[in-house]
Amino acid sequence: MPHPAPGPPPDGPTAEPVAPGTWRVTFQADAAFGGSTNAYLTETDDGLALVDAGIPGDRSVAQLDGALAELGATSADVRRILLTHGHWDHCGLVPVLRARHDTPVALHAADLAIVQRGHVSSAQWDADWDRWLDELGAPEAPRPELLVRAHKMRGDAIDVAPDDLITADFRAALRDGEVETILTPGHSAGHVVFVDRGRGILFAGDHVLPTINPNVSCLPGSEPDPLTSYLRSLAAVRELDVQVALPGHGDPFGDLRDRVDALRAGRERRLAAVEALVAESRPSTVWELAQRYAWRVAWDEMNAITQLGALGETYAHLTCLRTAGRLVRDDAGRYHAA
Ligand SMILES: [Zn+2]
Ligand SMILES: [Zn+2]
Repeated sequence: MPHPAPGPPPDGPTAEPVAPGTWRVTFQADAAFGGSTNAYLTETDDGLALVDAGIPGDRSVAQLDGALAELGATSADVRRILLTHGHWDHCGLVPVLRARHDTPVALHAADLAIVQRGHVSSAQWDADWDRWLDELGAPEAPRPELLVRAHKMRGDAIDVAPDDLITADFRAALRDGEVETILTPGHSAGHVVFVDRGRGILFAGDHVLPTINPNVSCLPGSEPDPLTSYLRSLAAVRELDVQVALPGHGDPFGDLRDRVDALRAGRERRLAAVEALVAESRPSTVWELAQRYAWRVAWDEMNAITQLGALGETYAHLTCLRTAGRLVRDDAGRYHAA
């Protein structure tokens, strides 16, 4: 899956203090991929909790061990891992901590489908993506290349077998307090954020990012209308009274409500643009509309992974508009003005 964006990360291990009793560790993706993902160490009564678990790989292991050493700790002091969601760049070190210390892991059940992708047979995976391309109205010629790229996503998953399945009433004890859970489906079906009301800290995962728009896509296996869910989930965190939001990518930020409003406004603009595109087109499929949409990079210049992302985003916007009664989809999978 595409992901890490903001960087650049620090050169060496660092545990960067970002809130009382809480440190950021930044993990760098390889050069081909670029960008970075954050995880956070936060104090508990008996050690530390790790919120998200970084990008996989030896460099990340060194990064975490180095950051822990700066705090006078080792990986044995990490008593539990809380995952905001199941994407590979947030679960990378789970297998390492598991193997070393059998560290317990918590994840929402709706993201099991992401972390357990490897359990789906190769043939079934390909068939699911082929059916998705049918739904989109994709022609035959570009399919093989898209399916090859989609196939690679199956191998990206980090196979996490959580000890705790997170629900809305999930809580975890911290030193002098606890985190509560808010369900924030959208970026993934099982995305959650953790809020420490006592210290005013939001562990935001990829739900609210400071500089980029979290990806929200209709893909095989995703919930049917993730963008409607995402907009509802933005509303669910807007009123939180927190001092600092700690995101999965990019720097900690303080103006949560402003950022939520900006993300919401950006989505509304794109929904309006997709609605206008449908209104000015003959009845068209997701495939046709994604090609016509004014992306920053022209469709023909996108590589296969970017095209898959653009298709998933277009489908999510069309589905959201359809739910809102602003568009209709006919039996041939073509969209019309309502
Ligand atoms: Zn991420
Ligand atoms: Zn993510």
